[in-house]
Amino acid sequence: MKVPLLDLKRQYRTIKPEIDQAIQKVLDNTMFIMGPEVKELEEKVAQYCGAKHGIGVASGTDALLLSLRALGVGPGDEVVTTTFSFFATAGVISRLGAKPVFVDIEPKTFNIDSRRLNDAITPKTKAIMPVHLYGQMADMDEIMEIAGKRGVPVVEDAAQAIGAEYKGKRAGQFGATGCFSFFPSKNLGAYGDGGFITTSDDNLAGLLRKLRVHGAQPKYFHSIIGYNSRLDTLQAAILIVKLKYLPEWHEARRLKADNYTRLLSGINQVTTPFVHPHNYHIYHQYTILAENRDGLKEHLKSREIGFDTYYPLPLHMQECYKELNYKPGSLPVSEKLARLAISLPVFPELTDQEQEYVAGAIREFYSR
Ligand SMILES: *Cc1c(COP(=O)(O)O)cnc(C)c1O
Repeated sequence: MKVPLLDLKRQYRTIKPEIDQAIQKVLDNTMFIMGPEVKELEEKVAQYCGAKHGIGVASGTDALLLSLRALGVGPGDEVVTTTFSFFATAGVISRLGAKPVFVDIEPKTFNIDSRRLNDAITPKTKAIMPVHLYGQMADMDEIMEIAGKRGVPVVEDAAQAIGAEYKGKRAGQFGATGCFSFFPSKNLGAYGDGGFITTSDDNLAGLLRKLRVHGAQPKYFHSIIGYNSRLDTLQAAILIVKLKYLPEWHEARRLKADNYTRLLSGINQVTTPFVHPHNYHIYHQYTILAENRDGLKEHLKSREIGFDTYYPLPLHMQECYKELNYKPGSLPVSEKLARLAISLPVFPELTDQEQEYVAGAIREFYSR
């Protein structure tokens, strides 16, 4: 047997007629930029996330970049974020000329440790950017309370967490903005790059809509310098079809996750994911902590089982951030988990047999 980490062909097969029709409609209309599907998707995703406004943009990275820019982040400012995330989380801060201030993570959920937040905030802090990693939301009550007391806005990096919930509220309705990615492998994936911003602030929404079209409002009149960052009509049309299925896909992922947790129980060298009872985890990734992870990786390779390590090197240890002078051991939880974390195949169409094969291979490795 061969088990891929993700197989998007299987998903396409289940919705092919609808997708093909949606694409054909855009081809017939030829409204490729800011066509009617973009607005329709914006309304639907904003409503799904529980936010007043939705703004389609070119990528999840741009959702973060435009959000920080709209909040006035620039040279000399600091943005506090987690060190355990995809690079885009930090990259956008640097691209605006600001400095990322990295905070260590909470060992059970891999999310930013809210107990360490206060110490990281300085008079230069212009924003706090928690990441809802793997599809489980960060401690939003604690984060919003500290942010409120210190008068700093929050930008949610919800790229991995569309539809995830914290105490019954979905990602993207806590911060000044919520940032989502439609990268093909995300739970709601486009057929190319795409991103989305939610906000319930009318002024921010207006500014973000302007920033994505070169800062123009009206067209050809530029009071600010913006970006070319729109969501393609084709991608919006595809996403409108896929959004209908998102709740059932989440439920399917959650079932697979429960299956893994049951199948892997009793293996002492493996720690299965911890989920806060107040969270609705959408399992963008099913990530375990594994002793002798590199040995396990070799074993999974030999069994033709897909996996990945999100993330092998925390952001504060990246070569491009060596001037920030973080020493090894400075953010020890993330440094340790970067050596132990490994993500297993989890997607709605994964079969029981495949899961049993994956779990069996892991059990076999540790019983040798
Ligand atoms: C995917 C991802 C992004 C970037 O999204 P793109 O659409 O690929 O630009 C940002 N942050 C996190 C945590 C992500 O997982």
